[in-house]
Amino acid sequence: MLSSLQSGLRNAVSRLLGVDVIDEAAVKAFVKDLQRTLLQADVNVKIVLQLSIIIEQRALQEKPPVGLPRKDHIVKILYEELSKILGEEIEFSLQKNKTNILLLIGIQGSGKTTVTAKIARYLTKKEYSVGIVAADTFRPGALIQLKMLCEKINVPVYGDENEKSAVKVAAEGINHFTKSNLNVIIIDTSGRHKEEKGLIEEMKQINSKVNPDKVLLVIDGTIGQQCYSQAEAFHNAVPVGAIIVTKLDGASKGGGALAAAAATGTRIAFIGTGERIDDLEIFSPVRFVGRLLDMGDLHALLERVKDIELEADNKKIQRITSGKMTIDDLYYQLEQITKMGSLKKILELVPGFSSNLKDQDMEGIETKLKRWRVIIQSMTKYERQNPDELNSSRIRRIAKGSGNAEKDVKEMMNKYKQTKSMIKASRGRELRQMMKRLQQ
Ligand code: GDP
Ligand code: MG
Repeated sequence: MLSSLQSGLRNAVSRLLGVDVIDEAAVKAFVKDLQRTLLQADVNVKIVLQLSIIIEQRALQEKPPVGLPRKDHIVKILYEELSKILGEEIEFSLQKNKTNILLLIGIQGSGKTTVTAKIARYLTKKEYSVGIVAADTFRPGALIQLKMLCEKINVPVYGDENEKSAVKVAAEGINHFTKSNLNVIIIDTSGRHKEEKGLIEEMKQINSKVNPDKVLLVIDGTIGQQCYSQAEAFHNAVPVGAIIVTKLDGASKGGGALAAAAATGTRIAFIGTGERIDDLEIFSPVRFVGRLLDMGDLHALLERVKDIELEADNKKIQRITSGKMTIDDLYYQLEQITKMGSLKKILELVPGFSSNLKDQDMEGIETKLKRWRVIIQSMTKYERQNPDELNSSRIRRIAKGSGNAEKDVKEMMNKYKQTKSMIKASRGRELRQMMKRLQQ
């Protein structure tokens, strides 16, 4: 898939990895390689420029974590920035206890009918019951095409060859399936050309008649960055919930199509990667870029970065338990707790803890921890490094800046000092004691 983009990116990376010293010239050469590859994949010039600037800046300015070679750090930067331009990941979810109506729109030949069958297949595999309405009354043979595709996957298709109004067929199709109580009804529509007013008008009418839960716009990936204007045109007529980019198998302009579709702000839900019914993939920018950059190597690299970060964590913990906890360390701990979710859940994992703590105690602690994070955020770097220098005017400023009372700031500082000396005194039991103190 997207083989030229893939080989271009991989060549750029392997040239970078082959350089002896990573200096400014090497970074610039790498960025040039990237630009060429992305432009060849029809990625919009503006996006390419933005991407090169940010990659160059980060590559030259960021200090890699200790232990990670500069080259690897640059590959990681490339991975992160490429994933970012491809937009955010969405989970394709359906609402429970109702029939979800999906409306597929797009110009003729974009792959709507194929995608209709592919999504039906995808959903039936997940045990959803699906029905299809063939509302393409424009193209002769459209109904037969759908019936043939869906016969293999055992999905019922509703159509009416004698009805010329797509709006009527769509509405009647939904009625037809009412009794079956399906999880999903997919409506396939006709597509002419985006410039044709008639098509847009028809989409609007179907949309207001059937009131779909999701409108899915199907775009042909071989048209490259033109995807942007096409998506815009449809979106202006009918609010598009998600985009499906098709024909990415071997599309040399696929990179541009994906970037352009993501640039419209509408997320890409699926990509089509072939003519067969199973050639549909959930689109995950991170996984996609991983594959472009050769997942084997990249996976190992990302794992290594994780290890390095973990090691840094361990050093911090060592510092804390040896009694040298700084305010930054305290903040880091609060961050970790917040990231991990509820404190109660964390403590439930510690044997002997869960039974001792009541829910209201936990809530009190969590509120305090949240408040402390905000207070620390209002402190200057100097203050965090020299907590003993906190005089009353500094405390007043911090309280004001964080929207708290001065006594809250003082309380936090007291707890910090107590905790610090307590941890120093009693290593093994520090957590338990800290919790007790927090509850006071
Ligand atoms: P519609 O007019 O929008 O309904 O488009 P169709 O579903 O009829 O598809 C048009 C053509 O594109 C057909 O020949 C499909 O087989 C082909 N097609 C659709 N999706 C893909 C895809 O992901 N990859 C490839 N290679 N061909 C596709
Ligand atoms: Mg069709």
